[in-house]
Amino acid sequence: MAKNPIQYTEDTLPKAYEAGNFEESIYQSWEKAGAFKAKIDKKKKPFTVIMPPPNATGTLHLGHAVMLALEDIMVRYHRMKGDSTLWIPGTDHAAIATQNKVEKNLAEKGITRHDLGRKKFIQEVETFVKGSQSTIRNQVRKMGSSCDWSRETYTLDEGPSLAVRTVFKRMFDDGLIYRGNRIVNWCPRCQSTLADDEVKYKEVQSKFYYLKYGPFIIGTARPETKFLDKVAVVHPDDKRYKKYIGKTFDVPWINGTLQGTVIADKASDPEFGSGVMTITPAHSMVDFEIAQRHKFEIVKIIDEKGNLTDAAGKEFAGMNAKLAREKIIENLQEKGLVEKIDENYRHNLSVCYRCDTAIEPLTSTQWFINVDKKIPKRNKTIKQLSIEVVKNGKIEILPEKFEKIYTHWMGNLHDWCISRQIWFGHQIPVWYCDNCHGDPIVSIDTPARCPKCKASELTQDPDVLDTWFSSGLWTFSTLGWPKKTKELEYFHPTSVLETGYDILFFWVARMIIMTTYTLNEVPFNTVYLHGLVRTRNGEKMSKSKPETCIDPLDMISKYGADALRLSMVIGGGPGNDIRLYEEKIAGYRNFVNKIWNISRFILLNTTAEERATKFTKKLIKTTADKWILTRLQKVIKNATKLIEEYNFSEAGTQIYDFLWSEMADWYIEFSKGEHKNSAVLLHVLRETLKLLHPFVPYMTEALWEKTGSEGFIMEQSWPKYDAALIFTADSKKIEKIHIAIGDIRKMRGEYKIDPAKKLRAIMYGGTLTPLLIEKKQAIMRLANLEEITIEKKGPKPEKSLSVISGGIESYLPLEQIFDLQKELERVKKEMEEHEKQLAGVNSRLQNKAFMANAKKEIVDQAKQDAAHHEEALVKLKEHKVSLEKMAK
Ligand SMILES: [Zn+2]
Ligand SMILES: [Zn+2]
Repeated sequence: MAKNPIQYTEDTLPKAYEAGNFEESIYQSWEKAGAFKAKIDKKKKPFTVIMPPPNATGTLHLGHAVMLALEDIMVRYHRMKGDSTLWIPGTDHAAIATQNKVEKNLAEKGITRHDLGRKKFIQEVETFVKGSQSTIRNQVRKMGSSCDWSRETYTLDEGPSLAVRTVFKRMFDDGLIYRGNRIVNWCPRCQSTLADDEVKYKEVQSKFYYLKYGPFIIGTARPETKFLDKVAVVHPDDKRYKKYIGKTFDVPWINGTLQGTVIADKASDPEFGSGVMTITPAHSMVDFEIAQRHKFEIVKIIDEKGNLTDAAGKEFAGMNAKLAREKIIENLQEKGLVEKIDENYRHNLSVCYRCDTAIEPLTSTQWFINVDKKIPKRNKTIKQLSIEVVKNGKIEILPEKFEKIYTHWMGNLHDWCISRQIWFGHQIPVWYCDNCHGDPIVSIDTPARCPKCKASELTQDPDVLDTWFSSGLWTFSTLGWPKKTKELEYFHPTSVLETGYDILFFWVARMIIMTTYTLNEVPFNTVYLHGLVRTRNGEKMSKSKPETCIDPLDMISKYGADALRLSMVIGGGPGNDIRLYEEKIAGYRNFVNKIWNISRFILLNTTAEERATKFTKKLIKTTADKWILTRLQKVIKNATKLIEEYNFSEAGTQIYDFLWSEMADWYIEFSKGEHKNSAVLLHVLRETLKLLHPFVPYMTEALWEKTGSEGFIMEQSWPKYDAALIFTADSKKIEKIHIAIGDIRKMRGEYKIDPAKKLRAIMYGGTLTPLLIEKKQAIMRLANLEEITIEKKGPKPEKSLSVISGGIESYLPLEQIFDLQKELERVKKEMEEHEKQLAGVNSRLQNKAFMANAKKEIVDQAKQDAAHHEEALVKLKEHKVSLEKMAK
């Protein structure tokens, strides 16, 4: 007889799953076969996810890994469910971060961007981006991400760039984009503006100065901004200062005498300090607004480099503002104008989120999006539209608590400063005429001539747009907009946007703003926000504690992508932070191995011919077959529901538990020997692998091939709940046997019987007797019995342990277990020992001196000890009573 080529033997099926031997080649074969490619199919429902684009120059970090794992689960599930599934990968140019990196590299060679000039510098950045883009792409692949690489998009690609210019022009024409002189957050190191939410706060300790200002005392932490503070502001209702309102007087000050004026404005807080403040309109948002209300002059004291301007006077102009502080105070002290200095002023300093440099609020001419102006013909503001779509449920945010946070944030949104003073990014599509200096020319394409004077000497605005402007368009710019593409029509709005809650405002909110404005539809139906990855102790991972930082790529090479994915998904839920450490990932590698071992056992016990036979209902033979098929339907139903509800953790756990406890522990045990039914074994295995596939894509694909099944598992249909495979009555019978076996095991545990000791048992099965007889061998194996007597019914055997449940009576004759008298002695002795200990602890707990002086931990420990002894005594007493009953 010819040897069957796929008759597995212990040697041909590896004992353990080595992820490293499979992952790369499996991914390549998926990609090569085009298995990730999305197709437009009007008969199917679309399911679209856009991948939050990692920075083009970045490397895969844990945040990406969590995001990729969760999105891949959703995408694989929907693909198997039969939806037309599209997952678009991409990379973000991350303007400020990337430019910083390249500038740093240049600085090592002693070159600045200005030495190169704009064009050459951009070429330099582009070369750098090309080099590192492939790194992040390969790392995304390593996670097993089944995204459609044929549609990969980069934020600076031609399509998205056209989308950016088109939206800019439209918003400008609608009067929503304006150029204005306003206070911005300026980073003197990055030499650029930052959006409000790009500012971080750091608690610092500094000095706080109380200065004599005419008849008042004013407080400030930043005397270097005060050179031209000519206006003192009091609250209109503050009785203390009523008589001063409207008065002017001479104020001896840093550079000689100023003429000060007192005004009333509700912005002044009577409770804060002396209740009088002076204003520095060019360097504070509040002061700027007061100055605008009262039409005061706005003079810049600090420039973009953080140096004092000419307005600070000859002595100070050109000095670094912060370094000048002490000198200014000396100057004021000499004049007797310093009332006192508080050395321990703690406050929140705003710093740049990129480089940690202190932010300098200053006035600057920038481009803004007006969030409070009504959109023509829509009669609503951007803000109102963006709040509305969440309130009316067009967008659902998970976890729900973020809906409130979002609405609140959106309600308080200020005009969005969108210009950045860097070179890398989408250059603002605005030109200025060098000839007539007329109005700015806003245009999608580079204009040839000035529309007013027809001159061709035009200069483009040197600034670039905030990176979030282009990522705000990401759901539709990746689908071809502004062209009317079939993709846009079919795949938009996208289904789920999955990302970390830390970028809810940066990105999610901006997508809602830009999409509802541009397309008049939502960018996505559901927002799923995952938590942050934390250390074993729940702390934030930080580079300053490298031992707590986990590199996902390291973990993949050590334990496999499947194990890493599981360790980030199981135990997590929307919004929950995830604790991650190496032992946890190693634990999930064992979990993956258990699935492999169960499958391996089944493969070793089936022939190639059996694997080639299609499962039908006719192949069901035993009651146990019916039970496992019934259980399988239940897990299919539950897992599907849980995935639909985004409860991936519970879905994964239930599928695994099914395979482990029901399939391996019970069904395989019940189906050994003559009861083996390969058809059912293989069917249940295949269905379970399909359920597991979205969670552990690589190993399930490797096993799928070994089960002799056709095609990729990733292209199979998601298992369907089949009511024809529900056998309620038969299942109940099997469950009763499980309970009976469980009871025997429990008795063994309670009476501390050596687990290896084989016992004799008597079972009265009533109507279940034929089934008990049929499963006799399995029951003996599972309960570790050497002999079993099965009868329909009978008298209670004397001196035996007994339990009756679900209509089955089980007895274990006592003499094989222990000498009754000896056991009674042992129990009594054990009870005495506990009583002694308990008395000791109690006397301490009743001792007033001990209670008054002992540390809380010691007292708590004593209380715990007392509880432990009490509990043990209750159990022992029960045991003693039952032994005494038997001895009678
Ligand atoms: Zn900075
Ligand atoms: Zn002109």
